[in-house]
Amino acid sequence: MQTQSNQSYSLQNELRSVFQKAKLPTNPAIAAEILSLVDDPNSSAEQFARVIENDPALAARLMQIGNSSYFSQRHPITSIQRAVTVLGLRRIRMSAVSFQLVSHLDRLGKVSFDLPAFWQHSVLRACMARELAGKVVPEHAEEAFLIGLLQDCGVLLLVQLLGDEYGEFYGNEGFSPTAFFVAERKQFTYNHVEVITVMGEEWNLAEIIVQPLGRHHERVHLEKASSSLERLCAVSYFVGALRWTDNQRVDIAEPHLLSYARGELGLDETSLQKCFVATNDAYQCVSELFGDVLPEEIDVADLLAEANRQLSLAVQESEAETEQVKLQCDKYFHERTTLRSAVAQYRERASRDPLTGLLNRGALLESMVQCQRQIAETKSAITVFFMDIDNFKQVNDERGHSFGDEVLRMISTIVMDSVCQSGSAGRYGGEEFVIIMPGLSKVEAYRLASQLVLDIRGMDYAGLGLNEPVTCSLGAVWGWLDLPPEQLIALADKLMYEAKRAGKDQFIFKAVENFSKGQPSIPEDKSSDPHVQTQPSRNHGSETSFRKIRKIAEGLHQEYSSSFVNTRKESRNDLMAPCRLAYLKDASLTVVVRDAFVRNISAGGLSLLTVGRMIRGDLIEASVTQNEGERFYAGLISFCRHITDDIYEIGVQIIDQDDQPIFSQDPYKAIKGLNWINEVIQERHGDSYEPRRSA
Ligand code: GH3
Ligand code: MG
Ligand code: MG
Repeated sequence: MQTQSNQSYSLQNELRSVFQKAKLPTNPAIAAEILSLVDDPNSSAEQFARVIENDPALAARLMQIGNSSYFSQRHPITSIQRAVTVLGLRRIRMSAVSFQLVSHLDRLGKVSFDLPAFWQHSVLRACMARELAGKVVPEHAEEAFLIGLLQDCGVLLLVQLLGDEYGEFYGNEGFSPTAFFVAERKQFTYNHVEVITVMGEEWNLAEIIVQPLGRHHERVHLEKASSSLERLCAVSYFVGALRWTDNQRVDIAEPHLLSYARGELGLDETSLQKCFVATNDAYQCVSELFGDVLPEEIDVADLLAEANRQLSLAVQESEAETEQVKLQCDKYFHERTTLRSAVAQYRERASRDPLTGLLNRGALLESMVQCQRQIAETKSAITVFFMDIDNFKQVNDERGHSFGDEVLRMISTIVMDSVCQSGSAGRYGGEEFVIIMPGLSKVEAYRLASQLVLDIRGMDYAGLGLNEPVTCSLGAVWGWLDLPPEQLIALADKLMYEAKRAGKDQFIFKAVENFSKGQPSIPEDKSSDPHVQTQPSRNHGSETSFRKIRKIAEGLHQEYSSSFVNTRKESRNDLMAPCRLAYLKDASLTVVVRDAFVRNISAGGLSLLTVGRMIRGDLIEASVTQNEGERFYAGLISFCRHITDDIYEIGVQIIDQDDQPIFSQDPYKAIKGLNWINEVIQERHGDSYEPRRSA
């Protein structure tokens, strides 16, 4: 508190000398007695009456008040005891103290100062404080009166202490109470708040009076649980900021006051207006008590009306201001929203391919960067699919460009549908699509690759008048791939190209598992077959290539069947069945799957037709769907014979056969278990091959 500072101590000393100079009793005799009664919660009306009777002036005035129309007594009050009863103990207490204190504060010497106006405003403030407190802190309404009355009494002392300079300064009509306080602190060593605090302590006023006096320029924030003291401080602040001007100049320096009343005191304009009206009545009543100091000719109603008008003007102004701010806010928000949505629209448009609505190349690369960030956080794998439509030039050439556009649009729906929330899909080039998927397991990635090829082939274009399927070739790469986006896509593109070379309408899937140090290990797949990356999908068969191969196979069969050597014919099992080939593409044991067609199977050999050349001596596995189920044959390529176009006949020397994949499910495991596979690999890749994983 201010009183604790050194400045306050020196102020206290200086004030004491002023009290003496101004002949102000620091503690008037009767006031002292009244105060001690006020302090005593057990003091009775009789005790008060006895003290007040010792001051005939005070007694007479209190009786006068009791007889005023305000208290509308049927029989005139003739005894001070009766006055005490009628006025109520609390009111008597505060009135008595007020009277005693105020009657000693009017000696200003020759300083030019409008004392009657000062007291008038003080009494008005006191009445207003009591009315407000009646609503905000009813148990201390009388204390509020004293607080309102004494609030600016520091000014009287400072006028005596500092003379004309301060008197004129106080008389400056241009100041609102708050502005006055701010300027006063700048200009003078002491201010009226410090002074009234010291005076309150000198007079031994209770804390519940002293604090609101000392804090009457402090904007107190009230909460539901705020104490009575805090509430009194809030009332003190409100009345302390009210401006009572007796000229007609309107100066609204406290436009927030109404919102303070509403927000902190819980009083709306109507309640405030009622307080002003009640203040008028109360003033008439109380003025009896302060008759000595108040101006004779007064129109309190005018003053109050003016104060009220100022408040209302303030409210209009602050409402207008609020409205203005609101308008500006609305405008700003509107502009911001419009701008935002425009930017979003622009971004969206700039990132989309207009034909298909998929991401364009730039946006795709951006989203891949995001995706890589995501997988780095979640420690999951990324899968990149690169899809190119087969023979699309031909589609365009035969049916026109807009037909081609329509096909692209239809294909894009499949591409779009394949992406879950986390992934993204884009059109990379003319008839090329890229899909990026974070978090897929190896099995899931493989299945999606397989599904995409199937779905594209299965798309029905009958509505467009096209009865043949449109197919695609797809490259898919899966793993912990910390490569720049372009390189990742290039990797998938390369695999796609291999699928093209292998006959189109198929996919090549590559799981990259060559980790650098510190990278997390690949999580085990929850799926039943964890190394399905090379496992041909059961229903996956390229109809177009199959159709073509089957036709050739049938032709070959017709052509050669008659010349088959009879002795070997028994062991010959003419199947004419579609099959899937799996072969090792490189030393890192990437397994490539492609479609083929079985011509026949004998005890030690297998003959099949496929698209693309194969190398003699290479390790190969064929899965053939037979009546009883799927059977896997593994062995070495014994010959590769060109048949027609890009169709080749492959001879396989069978070394192993089983109902389960022999090496394609897990080449690492197969190499460990089956020496002949290892030998083939060593022969093909020399010493460069190092199995990286043990079974
Ligand atoms: P491949 O199986 O080797 O991929 O053969 P392709 O004919 O699909 O490949 P190529 O790269 O030779 O031709 C691609 C064609 O795709 C050329 C172009 O006419 C067509 N194309 C590219 N963009 C569009 C497009 O926006 N609309 C249409 N209708 N056609 C397009
Ligand atoms: Mg292309
Ligand atoms: Mg193409």
